[in-house]
Amino acid sequence: MATSRILVADDDLAVLESVTWLLKENGYDVVPTNGGEQCLEHLERRTPDLLLLDILMPDTDGYTLLERIKAEERWRDLPVLMLSAQPPEDASVRSLGLGASDFIRKPYRPKELLARVQAQLRQGAVLRATRLALLRSEEALVRAQHDADSRRKLVDILHEVTGDLSVSELFHLLVRRAARALGVSHCSVVLARSGEATAVVAAAYENPTLHQMVIQLDRYPELRAALDSGQPVLVEDIDTHPLYVGVRQVWGIEGIEVPIRSVIALPFSVDRGQYGVFLVRRTRDQECFGTADLEFAQAVINAAVAVIQRAQIVESTMADNARLEQLAQTDPLTQLFNRRALTERMTAEMERALRYDSTMALLMIDLDHFKRVNDTFGHLVGDDVLRDVAQLLGNTIRGSDIAARYGGEEFLVLLPETDDSGAELFAERIRAAVHDYEFARAEGAPSLRLTASIGVAVFPAARIESVEDLFTRADTALYRAKADGRNRVRL
Ligand code: GH3
Ligand code: MG
Ligand code: MG
Repeated sequence: MATSRILVADDDLAVLESVTWLLKENGYDVVPTNGGEQCLEHLERRTPDLLLLDILMPDTDGYTLLERIKAEERWRDLPVLMLSAQPPEDASVRSLGLGASDFIRKPYRPKELLARVQAQLRQGAVLRATRLALLRSEEALVRAQHDADSRRKLVDILHEVTGDLSVSELFHLLVRRAARALGVSHCSVVLARSGEATAVVAAAYENPTLHQMVIQLDRYPELRAALDSGQPVLVEDIDTHPLYVGVRQVWGIEGIEVPIRSVIALPFSVDRGQYGVFLVRRTRDQECFGTADLEFAQAVINAAVAVIQRAQIVESTMADNARLEQLAQTDPLTQLFNRRALTERMTAEMERALRYDSTMALLMIDLDHFKRVNDTFGHLVGDDVLRDVAQLLGNTIRGSDIAARYGGEEFLVLLPETDDSGAELFAERIRAAVHDYEFARAEGAPSLRLTASIGVAVFPAARIESVEDLFTRADTALYRAKADGRNRVRL
């Protein structure tokens, strides 16, 4: 322990010298001052461990000085031993009332002075230690409150996240936020199906651009353990933990230096047989995880799972809706658009043509004598032919054109940005394609030939105001094509 430093203030030089000598003889570091002002100057420079203060001094008396000292926060804990020739009844009561720690009467007895100095220094040391401990625990309390605050905030943030985020975006958000809150360098979400040997890293804080990386579970014993048990796994140190006996050997053989020291793996259920593991890790230069970290990570993942599940429901509902919507627009035999879907597109296309002063065309295609195909080869062959025609149409149209099945053996093609000559040319191409096509049949059987008649209508045109008008116009043209001998195009 360092030598205690004692500041002595007395205007009586004889007393000052003798007290100084006595204290120095007993191993103290002594600063003698001759009066109140000098004493204050020394105090300002450095706070001693004890102040020995005479009461009667010509410049500033001991009471005044004591009052000033005790009024200041920085000297609040400085023990002050009053020294005076005044009658102790008055002087001691007054000094103690002003905050002095003790009182010694002059002429002093050396033994008593030393005993009281020692007692004051001891008490002063205890007081300082207590105050320091208090300060530290106050700081710790503030830190703990701050930690709790930021952790609560994280959990709240996760609660607030709405369904706007996709599940994968949520995983990225989760690893980012949790890594910061836990103060970890490695934080990831790993997805696995029960019984499989591999898993997929859905998001990793340490590698934000990583996308669906496949990992072998036998390399990650903590993931395996968490998935198999459904329980959180805390590994304080992978160098000593029994879970890693096997992989430590592998690392040894392969000469791998694993930068990770400490691991927490928290399993959670995602969706129908799929499980996730929230994996947080610390490297060798960081503190090992403890149970408090595990508890916090668990709180985060609990909050996150609720959000993830909500996002998942939203996603699968949207996917279901999209599937239903697609189903409602598709012809089941040919997978082309059905009549309803095409009608909707036509409305939009007709409006567009008017707005942009452009033209559009509708082809109505009817297979010639198709009834005979069914009658001769059977309905199943008829179906195959319809599918082939659909494919033929799909291969012939441009990206912006739309082919649909109107019903039976009738098809429609919508041609945006196309005028009558363009539409006729295009219809002729389709007619020729059907005419030239050899429809395959069962092995060995001769192929089948067919023709088609096509009616063309364009918009805008006189007396065409609605989708129905356009259909009627195309149907009339088709009727003419049939009447004129089939296998032809009419406008
Ligand atoms: P036309 O040259 O006058 O068009 O003669 P067509 O025989 O093609 O005309 P019609 O309208 O009299 O007959 C159409 C036939 O198409 C009747 C029906 O058996 C057949 N058909 C309609 N839908 C389907 C289907 O989904 N599958 C099969 N295999 N045949 C169908
Ligand atoms: Mg028909
Ligand atoms: Mg027909």
